[in-house]
Amino acid sequence: MDSKNLFKKAAELIKSSQKTMVLTGAGISTESGIPDFRSPGTGLWENMDPTEVLSTKVLFNSPEEFYRVGFKILSSMRNAEPNEAHYILSEMEKEGIIAGVITQNIDNLHQKAGSKKVYEVHGNTREGSCLRCGEKVSFELLEEKVAKEEIPPRCDRCGGMLRPDVVLFGDPMPHAFDLALKEVQESDLLIVIGSSLVVAPVNFLPGMVDGLIIINATETPYDYKADVVIREKASYALRNIWNLIKS
Ligand SMILES: [Zn+2]
Repeated sequence: MDSKNLFKKAAELIKSSQKTMVLTGAGISTESGIPDFRSPGTGLWENMDPTEVLSTKVLFNSPEEFYRVGFKILSSMRNAEPNEAHYILSEMEKEGIIAGVITQNIDNLHQKAGSKKVYEVHGNTREGSCLRCGEKVSFELLEEKVAKEEIPPRCDRCGGMLRPDVVLFGDPMPHAFDLALKEVQESDLLIVIGSSLVVAPVNFLPGMVDGLIIINATETPYDYKADVVIREKASYALRNIWNLIKS
């Protein structure tokens, strides 16, 4: 099937669905200039392996390294702007076409684009917390402390070490994942956008719905199960599908 027919089929599925959830991964944000740090070898951080440095192992055993190297990756995402794909999803939610977004991304771009129901299953780069007393702090405070060479940054209340509220390699999944799981179980359609579906346990979600649309530049282990597989950029695919739904 050529792309045009795939868009048409996707639009039909979305229109006839009772409840559609969306799952997004790094591929939706590459058009906003954010590299995919969970897939090694993307070439943007050639001198290190982000999956190594953004881990609980490094945070607990070498906090200096975590804050001097890994933290910079997280910080660098915060200036990015949403792209057309993020805006279309926000519009789709407003129009009641989709029920919400589950994202593996920590770049805050769905919220910046106006999406309201967003399950951040890998955490976020808006907040941090104290490892000792649990006090919540802003990500800006972490950045300020790191900029002032307070490494690792310490809690103003109890002196415990602060950490960003990003799900690091080695961390358990947050409560948002349980909520996302429930949403998918109640849905009859899942649209996967820009995820290679290789990171567990998020990659279990496509196995829990009847209807599945996958929009991703490369192959995924779930392509065989999908009703529609579109190998195009997220914004291009969504623009076409959205126009068909609206017409
Ligand atoms: Zn504290």
